[in-house]
Amino acid sequence: MMHFKEFKLDDKILQAIEQLGYIEPTEVQQKVIPVALSKQDILVKSKTGSGKTAAFATPLCELVDWEENKPQALVLTPTRELAVQVQEDITNIGRYKRIKGLALYGKSPFAKQKLALKQKTHIVVGTPGRVLDHMEKGTLDVSKIEYLVIDEADEMLNMGFLDQVESIIKLLPKKRTTMLFSATLSQEIKTLSGKYMNDAVSIEIDAGE
Ligand code: ADP
Ligand code: MG
Repeated sequence: MMHFKEFKLDDKILQAIEQLGYIEPTEVQQKVIPVALSKQDILVKSKTGSGKTAAFATPLCELVDWEENKPQALVLTPTRELAVQVQEDITNIGRYKRIKGLALYGKSPFAKQKLALKQKTHIVVGTPGRVLDHMEKGTLDVSKIEYLVIDEADEMLNMGFLDQVESIIKLLPKKRTTMLFSATLSQEIKTLSGKYMNDAVSIEIDAGE
């Protein structure tokens, strides 16, 4: 059995993970966390319920600089519910480091989000349409974004968000780490990763399925 303590993580992050009741990292977490901590691009295929959120939320909470006021990580999710869930997971894992996560999604007042974006935010989680809207209107400053996570990439493409995801990526700093997570890997996802990731490490759990 492996323990979270074997990753080089801040005690504050370890304490939060322990409090969540996570004892052993799941298989995808065991494989992804060390690679993500070394800031390499990653393409991950792993089934639903395998613990992908903490696989990226843990390294993001570890890597962001608390002192920086502008967002350093952007997580794209296909739905509002998922954005809220991921933001909550980030808040839980980053609790003792006082990591500030913010969820941005559509069908919710833009002005309220604009106001929230004026506060210190380390990690922004959002749906593509609303995130792009904030980027184009200048209410989301992406100049300090170093980490991009595309979560549930298969769902994202099934829902028709490819163009918006590409528009967002084109507006992000070139020097960044990109991680793509999906339950399935279609040719479209491989093309997307080939286009926007550099020498991505490929991690496939249950590849035989
Ligand atoms: P996925 O994104 O792969 O579908 P999630 O990240 O949503 O999966 O995780 C599924 C469930 O497993 C969540 O309820 C989460 O809290 C739990 N979980 C994640 N990592 C661990 C762990 N290391 N130990 C125990 N439970 C975990
Ligand atoms: Mg997930």
